[in-house]
Formats: sequence, C-alpha cells, structure tokens
Amino acid sequence: MTNFLNTLEFAKQLDNQDPLHSYRNKFYIPQHEGQDMVYFTGNSLGLQPKTTKDYLQQELNDWAAYGVEGHFLAKNPWMSYHEILTDKTAKIVGALPSEVVVMNQLTVNLHLLMVSFYRPSKQRYKILCEAKAFPSDQYALQSQVKFHGYNIDEALIEIAPREGEYEVRHEDIFKAIEDNKDSLALIMIGGVNYFSGQVFDMKAIVEAGHKVGAIVGFDLAHGAGNLKLQLHDWNVDFAAWCSYKYLNGGPGCVAGAFVHEKHHKNTDMPLFAGWWGHDKATRFKMDREFVPIQSVERWQLSNAPILSMAAYKASLDMFDEVGMDKLNEKSKVLTAYLEFIVGEINKQKNNCLEIITPKENRGCQISIVAHGQGKALYNKLIENGVIPDWREPNVIRCAPVPMYNSFEDIYRFGEILLKLL
Ligand SMILES: *Cc1c(COP(=O)(O)O)cnc(C)c1O
Repeated sequence: MTNFLNTLEFAKQLDNQDPLHSYRNKFYIPQHEGQDMVYFTGNSLGLQPKTTKDYLQQELNDWAAYGVEGHFLAKNPWMSYHEILTDKTAKIVGALPSEVVVMNQLTVNLHLLMVSFYRPSKQRYKILCEAKAFPSDQYALQSQVKFHGYNIDEALIEIAPREGEYEVRHEDIFKAIEDNKDSLALIMIGGVNYFSGQVFDMKAIVEAGHKVGAIVGFDLAHGAGNLKLQLHDWNVDFAAWCSYKYLNGGPGCVAGAFVHEKHHKNTDMPLFAGWWGHDKATRFKMDREFVPIQSVERWQLSNAPILSMAAYKASLDMFDEVGMDKLNEKSKVLTAYLEFIVGEINKQKNNCLEIITPKENRGCQISIVAHGQGKALYNKLIENGVIPDWREPNVIRCAPVPMYNSFEDIYRFGEILLKLL
C-alpha cells in the first residue's frame, strides 16, 4: 500500500469506499468532549453493540413471563441455548460444529482441556510455551505442572525472542520441539502474542508438534474474531478463547472451546465431568453413571449462563452477517494504514516510534515502542480522546478492529500523536 495519504480527506474517502463502514453505527463509541474517542482497545474489551440490550431484554422478559418454564418456553429455550451459538462460533474459528462449544471463561477452559490433554509421564512431561505469556496462561501452566508433581523449571520450556529482537523466530520454536522430542507432552501457546501482536504459524507448529508425538493446543484470546482460523484443517488438538476482546461479548462474557473431532470418540480420556457433559437423552434420568456426549460438549460442566450468552449472541449474529472474510480483508488495509501513519510521524519525529509487530505475521494489532517516552504519553493520549493500551515501559498497543474502527480514527490518532510527541 504505497499510495496512502496522510490527510483527513483521504481517510474519509477510504471510509466511504469501505463496505463495512455502516457497522460502526451499530456500536456505542465512548465519547470525549462531544466527539467519538479513537478506540484502539478492542483487543482488550470490544465495544458494545447497540442490540446487546435487546438480546438481554428478551431473556429477562422470558424469565419474568415463564420462570423456570423458560428452559422450554423461552423464545430461545435455555435448555439448549448454547447450541444456537455453535454453528456461528464454529465458522469464526474454522471448526466443525461438533468441535466447538461456548462455555465458562477462558482460563477455566484452558484448565479443563489440560486435564484431558496434558497427561504427563516420567518420560514425557514437558510443555513448550511462550516466555512472558499472558500471566493467566503462565499461572495455569505452572499450576498444571505442579498439580502433576513435576518441577516447573524443568517442565516448562519457554520460547523467547532472541536478545535484542521482539519477534519469536519460528526456527527457534521448531528447534526446541526437536531438542525435546522425547520429553515433550504438550505445546500450548497463544495464536497471537498479546504483547507484540505476533501471529504464530499454527499449522506448522501443529505439524512439528505431532511429528514428535506431542499434543498441540492454542490460547486464541487474541485470535478469535481477529484472524482467519482453520482449527479443524490445521489439526489443532484443542483451543480456548474469550469473547470479550475481538468478539464484543461484553466484560467477562462466556468463552469458547475447541476439541478436534478425532478426540471425540475417545471416551477413556480423563476429564472433570459435570451434568452438562452428560448424554442429553438420558441427562435427566439423573443416573449415577456419567455417559459422555460424543462431542466437545462433553467438557461442559454446568448449565448455561443465559444472560452472558445472550450478550454474546448479539455480537455473534453480527459476525455471522459480515463473515470473517470481509473482516479480514478490511483489517489488512486498516492496519496497513496505521502502519503508514506511524511511518509519516517518524519522518517528522526522528524515527522515535518503532513498530515491533512483524509485518508478515500480524492481525489487527500493532505494538509500538515509543522511544524516549514514558507513561505520560499514554495519559496525554487519553486526555486527548484516544484509548490505546499501554504496557510498561513504553509500548503502545493499538488494535484498529475492522468491525467498528474507521480510517478516520487512524488519521485522527496520527494527528493527536504527532501533536503530543
Ligand atoms: C485476555 C487473556 C486472558 C484472560 O483470561 P480470562 O480467563 O478470560 O480472564 C488469558 N490469556 C490470554 C492470552 C489473554 O489474552
């Protein structure tokens, strides 16, 4: 994209040509001095669709009208509410419907899946993960290792960028897999590194992991709704993601889980069971024996959080209407425009902004090191109507999301940032 221009007129022209531009109006955009804020934090908490309250109201009305009978009489019967989310969620992550379920929270799902997929033995007990992974993932992995009685320093192989670099080199991942081929039980990394925005080659990592006999799972907190995923075709063993980041479900909203179809028939696999994972035909016989559902629904424990799911459905219906193809197409141009604008600022400001997100391996997010700047810059951005995300010591994460961010947002971000530097 060499023919971008750093003008408001040009940004508005791109917005006019954008087939998804009208979706911006379907969201509440936080306001600053009577103007839309530049919201670049959809990778942390997505904005609220204006329809969310209607979806919630529907369930409140049905609860008021029917009480417990709402499980069967509600417009979307609560008994099977999670099932109406499955097909559309499966499309977002590139899975078969039987491989996807909406349940719990992200870290909860990671634990439940590791109960089944991290089965260490004396010989094979190591987990390959990212150094400085999102803290919750680090705690989850460490506690799983300790739970099984292994030493975290020996069991966790953390892959970091090389000295002076920000991007993890795939050759280093493959080498670590090969070096530990007899002791590697599990590879568990984020599909997108939350800090650098680097997207990993999931397909290649799965292949390399399987070749040495390891299980491969991904945390897709920053992948779901951002990247075009093909979890089934890539032969991923398991994955989990949250719905409040790119998927706009709302704070703490219900999460998602994926287990590849090839594992569904293996009912000997250990798991922590609950009644919602029991065969539906006989669930209410309330027998002593657990009869597992032959799909990822087996990993469900509890009956579904309907209010949270209703909020998720509001956004999910929009994702389904638009589709990941169109979102992805727009996302590439939007992010390239942000990169261009950062470059324009650099021309005037001595290259003080360094983009650490790899150009060839990225989704929406661009992480920028602001050399010579401190948190004061972030505070000033907020005061001037921009909401980016700040990571110590001097990293600004910006995620222009294709569903509601505009090219004008990016132009204005550039204008404000230039003024503040
Ligand atoms: C956002 C995020 C989480 C948050 O976990 P919750 O269980 O939803 O609180 C975990 N891991 C990663 C990689 C994340 O980006």
